[in-house]
Amino acid sequence: MNKFTVLVVEDDTPVRNLITTTLKSHDYKYYSVSCGRDALSETASRNPDTVLLDLGLPDMDGVEVIKSIRTWSNIPIIVISARSEDDEKIEALDAGADDYLTKPFSVEEMLARLRVAQRRLSIAEQTSNESVFYNGRLKIDFASGCAFLGNEEMHLTPIEYKLLCLMAKNVGKVLTHTYITKNVWGSSWENDIASLRVFMASLRKKLESGDESQQYIQTHIGVGYRMMKL
Ligand code: CA
Repeated sequence: MNKFTVLVVEDDTPVRNLITTTLKSHDYKYYSVSCGRDALSETASRNPDTVLLDLGLPDMDGVEVIKSIRTWSNIPIIVISARSEDDEKIEALDAGADDYLTKPFSVEEMLARLRVAQRRLSIAEQTSNESVFYNGRLKIDFASGCAFLGNEEMHLTPIEYKLLCLMAKNVGKVLTHTYITKNVWGSSWENDIASLRVFMASLRKKLESGDESQQYIQTHIGVGYRMMKL
């Protein structure tokens, strides 16, 4: 038996029950806890494949839980936040969370996020040491600094190429505006975020080139962007 294991961290009992019932009926293996301290010890001892983490916990800040896990593990973390916690959600992503769900969320939404996390895990295992990245028709040869769509080399500006590589290396993960601008420009001012929007639009145009089935980049309004695994 090789089930995908989820650690559920949620202090709100009805929400926790809804999550665990859903996981059970979809054949996931799971553990559930209701505070940050238990989240840390269970992550270490159970070695789950993904953590579903509520940000508003009784004993510690969810963001602190993420920071602590990230000092020793790259495990996918999906945060669950209330709408009023938008800033915390972004803080959580910057601290290393992969993705987020905003309450109230549907069961289908949660399962979809788990599938993305699952895929990221398998891609990370396969490609961590590869010098060539493949996704759908996209191929990036990091060593030569070239990107291709099918057999055609893409004509990218240096910034577009940097953006593309950053997204590719984090495929499946939501990257915040701040994270991206810090990595591409080395700073994160309002102007950089405005430029990011422009560069992202032109990169997307080159990547998706009129082909509706090739949607590589997902926009998260007010949050950031994610490259999807096609
Ligand atoms: Ca809570």
